[in-house]
Amino acid sequence: MSLNEQVFFDVDLSNYEFIRKEIVELASSLIRFKTTASNEQELKNIIDFVENYLKANKLISINKFKVNDKYNLIAKLSDKIKVYFVVHLDVVDALDSQFNPYIEDNKLVGRGALDMKGPASTVLYLFKNLKQNIPIGLIATTDEEIGSLSGVKYILENMDIKADVAVIPDGGEDFNIITKGKGAFHFRVKSYGKSAHGSTTWLGINAVDKLLKFYNELKEIILENNENDINQVDKDLHWHNTVNLGKIEGGVKVNVVPDYAYADIDIRFTEKYTLDNIYNLVDYLAKKYSLELEVLSTGQPVSIDLNNKYLQKFIESYKVVLGEPKFSVEHGATDGRFFAAKNIPVITIYPKGQGLHSDYEWVDVDSLVILFKLFYNFILKIS
Ligand SMILES: [Zn+2]
Repeated sequence: MSLNEQVFFDVDLSNYEFIRKEIVELASSLIRFKTTASNEQELKNIIDFVENYLKANKLISINKFKVNDKYNLIAKLSDKIKVYFVVHLDVVDALDSQFNPYIEDNKLVGRGALDMKGPASTVLYLFKNLKQNIPIGLIATTDEEIGSLSGVKYILENMDIKADVAVIPDGGEDFNIITKGKGAFHFRVKSYGKSAHGSTTWLGINAVDKLLKFYNELKEIILENNENDINQVDKDLHWHNTVNLGKIEGGVKVNVVPDYAYADIDIRFTEKYTLDNIYNLVDYLAKKYSLELEVLSTGQPVSIDLNNKYLQKFIESYKVVLGEPKFSVEHGATDGRFFAAKNIPVITIYPKGQGLHSDYEWVDVDSLVILFKLFYNFILKIS
């Protein structure tokens, strides 16, 4: 018997129905906490709940702490951590009824069932029942949905977090292994001109004109490699840069030259670029058109090398539990961006489910058990 096989789990792993029931109960308990951003008491309550739940395992060390008005918990099964599992326990706003989870067919329905109290419960269940010191840790936060400033971002920038890889079950769909996610650069450019009557435009400077020129040149440069340099797989996945002018405002009426305008722009970029590349370009063009630049938010692109040894172990486990692995990419931002900024590669995966952030959010119950088994098999390979 190898050391790995001696890992003792508190629950009989062949008892599928029992494990399924326990995970559903835990996920349902988590969903009942109304952990929206404004509900500080509930954010505290859910972290207390998780602490109590994990405390049943005497091997776990727990550090619970508050940052601003948000609550976090770090749990470790060893002093030295190789793999961090990362979960967030906050949810976006919801109908009141969505905090009363129920089962329908094989779906667990409720706010956060998929994003991500369902997936989080598989990780918590794993940690609670492991009876051996394995170099894995858990980071649980309560402000992911509003940007992670007091959660993962704070933790990675202010605490001594070291790991070889992070596993974040908070993206993708239906067990696609997410190997890369785009970077994001959100900014506002403000344009100042000079007002004049619309019939004598030569006396004024049109602030909107300047913005449009800026935008057109920016778009041309950011998108230039989109079609030329990428292969068919990336094309099909839309794995290329994008630019969205999400908001533009300026001017007062049709016959007045506007003396002020601003635009809010969202650039998403692939791992071929860095945040610095994008910032420098935007800054250069803003200066060229004498615009004022205000950065709104940023995120590093996330990617993991297919040869990464932890990803290889993850794929081996995937094959045991699910068969031939499926791979995909993530277009939206996850907490992975903060790990990427620390050069910690990230593995992202999601169970089967739908409707995140909608009025009808659900996760497939059996796929939660599968996710748990995938994680269990994976951590057996970590030592
Ligand atoms: Zn999420």
